This record gives sequence, C-alpha cells and structure tokens, in this order.
Amino acid sequence: MPIYDYVIVGAGIVGLATAYHLKRLEPQASVAVVEAGPAPGSGDTGRSMAAFRAFFTSRLNMLLAGSSIDYYLDVERSGVDLGIRMAGYLFLADERLQAALREGLREAERLGLEYEEVPLDRVEELLDLNTRVSGSEEAELLGVGDIVEAVLVKRAGFLAAEKLVDYYYREALRLGTVFSFNTKAEKLILEPRVSLGIEGEPLPWQDPHVAGVKLAGGAEVRARKAIIVAAGAYAATLLNPAGFESFTKPKKRQVFRLPAKGRAGDMLKAELVKGSGSPPLLILPRKLLVRPAVEEESVWVQLSDEAGRPYGLEAWEPAPEEHYYTLAVNPLLSLYLPSLAGASPTGAWAGYYDVSPDGLPVVTRHEEERLVIAGGTSGSGIMKGDAIGRIAAAAAAGHDEAELYGGEKVEVAWLGFKKRRCEEEKLIL
Ligand SMILES: Cc1cc2nc3c(=O)[nH]c(=O)nc-3n(C[C@H](O)[C@H](O)[C@H](O)COP(=O)(O)OP(=O)(O)OC[C@H]3O[C@@H](n4cnc5c(N)ncnc54)[C@H](O)[C@@H]3O)c2cc1C
Repeated sequence: MPIYDYVIVGAGIVGLATAYHLKRLEPQASVAVVEAGPAPGSGDTGRSMAAFRAFFTSRLNMLLAGSSIDYYLDVERSGVDLGIRMAGYLFLADERLQAALREGLREAERLGLEYEEVPLDRVEELLDLNTRVSGSEEAELLGVGDIVEAVLVKRAGFLAAEKLVDYYYREALRLGTVFSFNTKAEKLILEPRVSLGIEGEPLPWQDPHVAGVKLAGGAEVRARKAIIVAAGAYAATLLNPAGFESFTKPKKRQVFRLPAKGRAGDMLKAELVKGSGSPPLLILPRKLLVRPAVEEESVWVQLSDEAGRPYGLEAWEPAPEEHYYTLAVNPLLSLYLPSLAGASPTGAWAGYYDVSPDGLPVVTRHEEERLVIAGGTSGSGIMKGDAIGRIAAAAAAGHDEAELYGGEKVEVAWLGFKKRRCEEEKLIL
C-alpha cells in the first residue's frame, strides 16, 4: 500500500498550488495528489471564467489576490504563457451596486491601487451599452436602474485557467510530486495513536488521526505527516462523515457563451486598458458578469443568484439550465447590452462556488489529527490560488506563518476559525 509524507486530495488550483509550494518548502518530502477526475483542473477550476482582480473590500482578500496576480504576471514574464490579458474590470453601477463599489474604491485608494472613472458617454459608445434604463417597465420589474458610475479597475483581467493548471502541474511534477488521476477518495481513514485491536477503534481516548484515504475499489493511500483536503466544493462529502467541519458550502453557478458577431463583435474591439487587446470584464447591475473571450469571438455571461438557489451538490457535474438563461440572464442583458441579447448561447456550463461564511478562503489545521483543509474560495480561487497554496503548504508543514509572493507574511491562523481575521467581503461577484 503506497505511503507518502503528504497526500493531497484534489488537483484543482488549490491542490496543485499546495503541492508545488509544499515541495518547495520540503524538497525531500514525498507528496502525492489523488484526483477523482481524469486530469488536473477537471473540477471547478476548469469551469471558471478565470478572471482576476486585486480589488476587494477586505484587506486580506486584497492581499491574497494581489500577491497571486503578481506571481502569475512574473511567471508569464519568465516566458510561460498563462494567457494573461490585463484588460481590467469595468464596474457599471446602478445606485444599488454603488455602495459596495465605493467601499472597495476607498480600500483600493488606501493601498494605492489604480482605478479610473470612465465617462458614461464613452462606455455607451465603446460598448454599445444602454446606461439609461429607468422608467421602463422591464427595469422596474428587474429592480435595476440607470448606470450612474463606471469605474475601471486596472489591476485586473483574465487568464487561461488550463494554462495556469498546466504550469502548476508541470512544476509540481518536476519537483517530484506523484499524481494519480481517476482516483476518488471515498473516505478518510481514522486510526488510533496506538492500536489495541479492540472493537470500535479508534475510541475517543485513543487520539484518532487521519492516516490516509480509502479509494473507490478499496485500495488505500497513506500519509506519514498530513492529509490535505483540497477537494473544493466536494470537501464536505469527505470531511463530514469523518467528523470534521468544512465550514463551506457549494452553490451552483452557470456560464453561458454567446457569439459576438456584427454590432456585438465591434464591442470586442473596445479596449479600455491600452495594449490589452480586449475589453474589460463588465460588472453590470445585479452582478451580471460579461467576460469577453476575444480569441473565440464570443462573450461568457454569468449571473449569481442567492436567495432561491439552494446550497448543496446537485450532481458531481451540474448541468446548466436553459430556462435560467432565458428568464434570469437574458432580460438583464437585453436591457443593458441589447446587441448581445439577440443571440442564442452556443455553449454553457455549470459548476459550484465553494462558499465560506465571510467570503474569505478557509485553511484549517487539525494538528493532532494530521489534517489540513484548504478551500472556501467563494468564487475567486483562481485569482487567489497561489497565496492559498502557500498558506496550505505552510499549514501542512507545521509552520505558523506563510510567506506570500513578494515577501509579505501572513499568519496561517488568519484563515482558520480560531484566530480568523474576520472582515466582511462585500465584493463577491
Ligand atoms: C462558473 C464559475 C465561474 C468562476 N469564475 C471565476 C473567476 O472568474 N475567477 C476566479 O478566481 N474564480 C472563479 N471561480 C471560482 C474558481 O473556479 C474556484 O474558486 C477554484 O477553481 C477552486 O479551486 P479548488 O482547487 O478549491 O476546487 P476544484 O477546482 O473543484 O478542485 C477540487 C478537485 O478535487 C477533486 N475531488 C473532489 N472530491 C474528491 C475526492 N473525494 N477524491 C479525489 N478527488 C476529489 C475534484 O475532482 C476537483 O478536481 C468560478 C467558479 C465557477 C463555478
């Protein structure tokens, strides 16, 4: 039965970055990653819009995203193509969205981040956007108003998730990490400190610890030092039966691909950040996200629903809902971006946000039980992946502090629940 120093469950961005940074911290340690899917990044990492921004209302989120983005940019500068486009995020706020936006801007200002107000007539012209919608029956029904402010955040854009995955996968492999795909961990193996061979072991006084994972089919993979659960939205299915809290819950999210031809195609030529070759990601009222995909002449559209959308796993791979596009997404799009709304989706996919109570990631260490949980990325795990990987690796190696890219130090406990650095995050998109 294979035994390693560390076993990581999940080869999404969190598991991959953790594997890589763990090998950097402890080059001699043996690290294995087991992944249920056929390839790295085949969970929610591969279903994301892969957009990023160093722009949050909580300082910690800003730090995690900012340092990860710096790292990705430097990786690309070193010659690895991550498909980065620094195209920016354009917040197009009605009065409702404006409050959270203003708070983010104040924090950005304190941290010296660049943003600029864009005149509304300029965005109207460049993006073929309707800013004046109030007074119409549709706007009233949808509970949205005129666009009153357009703010361009420049330290933001998108990348190619599969290229980022490939980078960490190759780097982790190069450093000696062992990967096993199509390998689902069915349960955590709990064992006593000293086995007496009695029924019902481990009993509470035997100090149970997580010794490994049992795989589908019955085989086992064991860890000498720690198991790291980086199973994203699926984490609770492994943790809860073994008596561990995941602190996060899955929430379904959907993306629809629309062809951008003719007038809508012209919008793809609008560049607000010089040299980016793409329009920015648009954030419209009710947090309707429009992500340009210039290389495939399309846009990806996403709308987050809160009340009414249950927490929980609907299926291992959830399906997009046609009626959700027709009844929820399209009416908003028709109001603000009518040139896009006429087209039918040419593709769609769905995944889960792994939602934490406050929108900050979760890294918890159960020292005696030799377990680390890393997740709770709340819809922004690509943009914070490097920092979360560094913190999870430090937690597994027993360090109290992690050094982020650029040198800033964070306490591992800030992402746990005993000494959590609680800050409300208002800009979850
Ligand atoms: C529609 C959508 C759009 C998004 N857009 C963005 C965005 O623009 N920017 C951004 O930063 N983030 C975005 N996100 C969020 C981002 O995708 C996630 O935060 C990130 O991918 C989480 O990474 P992860 O490694 O925690 O999870 P995952 O990528 O899901 O990785 C977990 C892995 O664990 C595996 N696994 C689970 N259980 C087991 C088991 N029992 N045994 C073995 N393997 C197991 C899964 O197969 C999976 O591959 C989006 C998410 C969705 C759903």
